[in-house]
Amino acid sequence: MSEIVTATAAELSRRLQAKEVSAVEVTQAHLDRIAQVDGEVHAFLHVNDEEALATARDVDERRARGEELHPLAGVPIAVKDVVVTKGQPTTAASKMLEGWLPPYDATVVERLRAAGLPILGKTNLDEFAMGSSTEHSAFGPTRNPWDLDRIPGGSGGGSAAAVAAYEAPLAIGTDTGGSIRQPAAVTGSVGVKPTYGGVSRYGLIALASSLDQAGPVSRTVRDSALLHELIGGHDPRDSTSLPDPVGDLVEATEALDLRGMRVGVVRELGGDGYQPGVRASFTAALGLLEEAGAQVVEVSCPSFDYALAAYYLILPAEASSNLAKFDGMRCGLRVEPEDGPLTAERVMAATRGAGFGDEVKRRVILGTHALSAGYYDAYYGSAQQVRTLIQRDFAAAFEQVDVLVSPTAPTTAFRFGEKLDDPMAMYLNDVATIPANLAGVPGISVPSGLSDDGLPVGFQALAPVREDARLYRVGAVLERLLDERRGHPLLAEAPSLPTTVAQEATR
Ligand code: GLN
Repeated sequence: MSEIVTATAAELSRRLQAKEVSAVEVTQAHLDRIAQVDGEVHAFLHVNDEEALATARDVDERRARGEELHPLAGVPIAVKDVVVTKGQPTTAASKMLEGWLPPYDATVVERLRAAGLPILGKTNLDEFAMGSSTEHSAFGPTRNPWDLDRIPGGSGGGSAAAVAAYEAPLAIGTDTGGSIRQPAAVTGSVGVKPTYGGVSRYGLIALASSLDQAGPVSRTVRDSALLHELIGGHDPRDSTSLPDPVGDLVEATEALDLRGMRVGVVRELGGDGYQPGVRASFTAALGLLEEAGAQVVEVSCPSFDYALAAYYLILPAEASSNLAKFDGMRCGLRVEPEDGPLTAERVMAATRGAGFGDEVKRRVILGTHALSAGYYDAYYGSAQQVRTLIQRDFAAAFEQVDVLVSPTAPTTAFRFGEKLDDPMAMYLNDVATIPANLAGVPGISVPSGLSDDGLPVGFQALAPVREDARLYRVGAVLERLLDERRGHPLLAEAPSLPTTVAQEATR
């Protein structure tokens, strides 16, 4: 394996600018790595060799001419397959969209292209981003590079696994209830859900529009900051886009300590139901934050106990409405009934029956029911009231502290099939990530080490709306202290990567 693929995006950026390496070499090294390991990992649904190399060649030519380029020009990236890419397949991991070639780019993708990042391909996910394990993909699951018998988290398991298996230094994810942060946690990567409106939603295949947010996935906190600054900022094509950028994120990663920072441990996120090894890793990380000068206190957000229940009404309600366009007529797959009359209703039933997987159907049924006349106030209305209470809990907590922290997920990566037949058990994995989406606040997951089962644990920090920079500060300081103690990055310890990447990365 080439040492190019173990380098961080920041390091590749430096080497590219110093002309120590070309964008074509960097891109080819990652394509080789994908060819070598993705048969086992299955992080990618599509790999765009030709297009990625064409972008790289263009970057090299422009650099040779002395053009001023974006610092990440030539640094390859993987994009979750729920983000539309012009002329390249975009499926949302659903049979419903198999074979679709979008006629336009998402704003996020447009910005990547304008900055010259070769797009390696599209990464796997749970169908329409519904799930916590990537097992709901219509095209087969992604495997966790730490243990190929375990899930890589979800819904963005492909983006997290691609980064953790050194197939890409950077990836784009989307986070509606934790799909950037939880996969990052269980694969030992870094993932950030930006403030709602901080990154354009234009061109994301919508799951729940009031919760969806695209964001960065990477192996280091600084790399996420570099990517976040590139993709963030106002977009007139997204009506919920914030008017201005959220602050200097890369600069925040240069912080040397956490003096003056008040850190609140959320009492409701971390007790029963959290694996002991996860709790131990989290507590140890708190100790490091204190050593770095932070003041750690406990805070209570009582409404968080109802977040999961509210989310699993609001999300299905919005999803059922967003997915209504897949009806066999307006959009996507069309399946005609085998016999009988060809009515709109029967085409719709045949198409949706064949095109959607079980989890999508479950949520469409739930959402449609929650929105139906007579139940609307009892279900959807109450859930929206809970949402307001959660927002108030955040507001009250942020009067006492600068950031809130918790484990990102209650468990480490579970085995395939373990929760597949028990939707409630699957949903419970999102218990700590969901409150942020309901309130629109930003969140980060940074690896805090390994649990006693030898699997990575994520440390989550949450900040007030627009204060994304605080997350990068906390994340970068924690990452540095942990790396110093260990003597190498956590991912260097991943035992079951398909090649000897672990040993090579430690050298
Ligand atoms: N796992 C959560 C769910 O199933 C989160 C999904 C997401 O963030 N896209 O809804």
